[in-house]
Amino acid sequence: MALLEVEGLCVNYGAVSAVRDVSLSVAAGEIVTLIGANGAGKTSILRAVSKLVTPRAGVLRFDGRDVTGLPPEVLVRLGMAHSPEGRQVLARQSVGDNLELGAYVRNDRAAIAKDMERMFELFPRLSERRKQSAGTLSGGEQQMLAIARALMSRPRLLLLDEPSLGLAPILVSEIFEIIAGLGAMGTTILLVEQNARLAMRVAARTYVVESGGIVLEGPSAELAADERVTKAYLG
Ligand code: ATP
Repeated sequence: MALLEVEGLCVNYGAVSAVRDVSLSVAAGEIVTLIGANGAGKTSILRAVSKLVTPRAGVLRFDGRDVTGLPPEVLVRLGMAHSPEGRQVLARQSVGDNLELGAYVRNDRAAIAKDMERMFELFPRLSERRKQSAGTLSGGEQQMLAIARALMSRPRLLLLDEPSLGLAPILVSEIFEIIAGLGAMGTTILLVEQNARLAMRVAARTYVVESGGIVLEGPSAELAADERVTKAYLG
């Protein structure tokens, strides 16, 4: 059964229609990616799923339950975590404090401490900097912190927005290795990426977003061989 089901999703910003009639699903344990050009609407889809924007229309189901009317904090409690585009960490707080904040919906202190250590294993760069304030981390390190913070809620679904944005190539491979590793451990991920080639390598299925709508979808291996995809996104 699908962990996340989206049906007929529409997002408007004032008079601008950013997302039009988008339907998609993510099965438990699956990595799915949304690829597309700048401004295609990928971020808006993700934001509507976690309710950071209110969709104009559409139905959202999470684990079979209709969550269309629920606010973001309830979705976090149900197991959705959103790692946003850019570096939206708390700049003045330490790396450790940012991670603890990621676990705010939990109250199992011992398990939280254990997960924090697990994050430091997953992201050794953060371990060396656990007392450093997040605002002084490099862009790539902040990106890692944003992902680690999202994982601290022990999400059933991780929404990852442009994890490779603005990173040096070596860090991009590092981040994608981590994503693949999370997938191998069974984490369910909906990934938005500009880097279509790498995204399609880690994701089992791909949706291609153009002008707010989904124009192609299928197993990543199939789409990676489709001329419409190779010409526009893998060229
Ligand atoms: P990118 O890869 O560049 O981040 P995207 O595919 O994620 O692009 P969105 O950020 O979802 O695309 O944007 C889709 C459209 O909605 C764009 O035309 C954008 O200008 C518009 N848009 C996004 N956020 C807002 C906003 N807060 N107010 C008005 N228009 C917006």
